[in-house]
Amino acid sequence: MAAEEPVAPPRDCPACPRLAAFREENRAKWPDWRNAPVPSFGTAGARLLIVGLAPGLQGANRTGRPFTGDWAGDLLYATLLKFGFADGVYDERPDDGLTLVGARITNAVRCVPPQNKPEGAEIAACRPYLAGELAALADGAAVVALGRIAHDSLCRALGVRLKAAPFGHGAEHALERLRLFDSYHCSRYNTNTGVLTTEMFETVFARVRTYVDGAS
Ligand code: SF4
Repeated sequence: MAAEEPVAPPRDCPACPRLAAFREENRAKWPDWRNAPVPSFGTAGARLLIVGLAPGLQGANRTGRPFTGDWAGDLLYATLLKFGFADGVYDERPDDGLTLVGARITNAVRCVPPQNKPEGAEIAACRPYLAGELAALADGAAVVALGRIAHDSLCRALGVRLKAAPFGHGAEHALERLRLFDSYHCSRYNTNTGVLTTEMFETVFARVRTYVDGAS
């Protein structure tokens, strides 16, 4: 039986005044863009949940699908296709027909923040939506945190002490219900500076594939 779709924030969610103001600014500048909380992509209750930081201004905030339309999506979707977590062709558009296979993608913060930098209060305000995504997962599901902010918010949502599960690229944490895998975020900045290479990113997803396939 499919899991129930977790609650998503309303289009005009007022919880983060700074982000709501930025949203209005962007609506005036680019009326054809989404400029609203970006919904998760993929079936609820999948065996794998990938958690990014927040929509990119010209990526998900423009197209309305997580990681779609900017560099971070190029690397993420190529990797998901390579490891069998996606099917079809990624063409940087929400109507490219790409589907996720046993996977779902969400963000720790659903609205685009200025300079890609959400504030602590904003991350906390959006956490209930992340908690809803986690609650929909079956026991033993894999969760990939893309970056420290996603990792920390996941831990807080799960009631896990950050010291008990420190973030580190390639780190793996066996939590009570879920298995958490960490990766540096696949942002253009991280890949341009060599903080994250394609090989490093693929190594994480190869490990996730093995775990999800039951060989843990
Ligand atoms: S970031 Fe989340 S909590 Fe804040 S306004 Fe957007 S949807 Fe609401």
